[in-house]
Amino acid sequence: MHTDLSSTGAAAGEQSDPEPREECGVFGVWAPGEEVAKLTYYGLYALQHRGQEAAGISVSDGNQIVVFKDLGLVSQVFDEQTLSSLQGHVAVGHCRYSTTGGGSWENAQPTFRTTAAGTGLALGHNGNLVNTHELHERARGLGIIGKNGATTDSDLLCGLLAAAAADKGIEAAAMELLPTVRGAFCLTFADENTLYAARDPHGVRPLVLGRLERGWVVASETAGLDIVGASFVREVEPGELIAIDAGGLRSSRFANPEPKGCIFEYVYLARPDTTISGRSVHATRVEIGRRLAEECPADADLVIPVPESGTPAAIGYAQASGIPYGQGLVKNGYVGRTFIQPSQTIRQLGIRLKLNPLREVIRGKRLVVVDDSIVRGNTQRALVRMLRESGALEVHVRIASPPVRWPCFYGIDFASRAELVANGADLDGIRRSIGADSLGYVSLDGLVAASEQPRSRLCAACFDGEYPIALPDDALIGKHLLEGITGGNGAGTSALPVTSAGYGAEDAVRRP
Ligand code: SF4
Repeated sequence: MHTDLSSTGAAAGEQSDPEPREECGVFGVWAPGEEVAKLTYYGLYALQHRGQEAAGISVSDGNQIVVFKDLGLVSQVFDEQTLSSLQGHVAVGHCRYSTTGGGSWENAQPTFRTTAAGTGLALGHNGNLVNTHELHERARGLGIIGKNGATTDSDLLCGLLAAAAADKGIEAAAMELLPTVRGAFCLTFADENTLYAARDPHGVRPLVLGRLERGWVVASETAGLDIVGASFVREVEPGELIAIDAGGLRSSRFANPEPKGCIFEYVYLARPDTTISGRSVHATRVEIGRRLAEECPADADLVIPVPESGTPAAIGYAQASGIPYGQGLVKNGYVGRTFIQPSQTIRQLGIRLKLNPLREVIRGKRLVVVDDSIVRGNTQRALVRMLRESGALEVHVRIASPPVRWPCFYGIDFASRAELVANGADLDGIRRSIGADSLGYVSLDGLVAASEQPRSRLCAACFDGEYPIALPDDALIGKHLLEGITGGNGAGTSALPVTSAGYGAEDAVRRP
């Protein structure tokens, strides 16, 4: 599976495949005396794979929060000058892939609200809520809809928190609000002096706490701690609210934990150098490959990965099968979201925007090709064709996850159910659809065993349809739900980077 170029609405060829896209990355730091904006920048840089549509950082110096956000990659949004202008001791960072609300500038995060007391609140969210409609009704009753043009569930949370904080403060407001929020949420948020982190009671998405010599860090993945030299302390627990300020770290429980961690984080979403629930993602992927070789053997000459997410599983497959491992495909350096419209000629190249075959490796070989997942099947179809054109004698596709048959409502943007190639098709039907000589998926039991997590503590709904968090009616869920209700500005407008400041007047933004 590959980062999706078609999310640009531009750079995909007919053969490209809108595969599941990462959700978002969140980061937060409380560290007096440190350059918190730069720490956050590097934290987001390590989490870039979780969201490539927009990036933002809020910083507070104890008196005022300043938010800087824009569409684009972290490295495109921030430069030295901008980061240097963001001075303070508490920061929240976010990189976005949109799962609720369109890809507009207004929907980039951290989202920002002010309280009636005149203080500020900046919030970053990874995940997807399932009672968004209910929260929207509550927010409408309070008259806080449409204040900043955002159409995200995250901004609803920020608005409701800010509204409730007026008389009781952010911490007490969060303890009151969060038990009423359903769905997947890892939050980092901050007022002028305090950094907060919260994780939903199911702990669907990962969130970890780290220690700096002079402060604390929270990040979506341990890789976000490593890059800033923070030592791993522990995971933020499902149902836990953490507050960090000059008084130290306070932990509160807003709900009893019922862990249902996303198993797809192990398959594809998280970085291989991340650890989730004590289990290395890389080691999990290698073990998935070993199990895949046992469950779905192939008579072949060479095992090649679809880089990069298929690489550890291909290594495991080669180890267990005894078939040599080789690199048969080269991935273009970084093909995340691009704002450059490809020419028609380039568009038609489709998959070659992402992958290029090493013909001298492939020619005359019976190949096992290991990929992490199949969603619509378009990528694999193009891949098989490309490998055959490059001289492969046989192409045996092996997939390091079970067939994806159900959409995700907890923060991953799969295709709709009707678009999933495994929907209603048997194994041979999928094999014929992608044109492979043989096709094998690892079993769900094999995947769970490789993760070393108890099955009862995992969400695997996209594979088995058992959604651990109850879903509302179809009409009350969906990426553009709030745009439908509010007529908000979520449809992909762009804007110059903006520094939002000016408390008590959220629309009083300053454009540099
Ligand atoms: S449905 Fe799939 S992708 Fe979504 S949270 Fe569950 S396991 Fe993860």
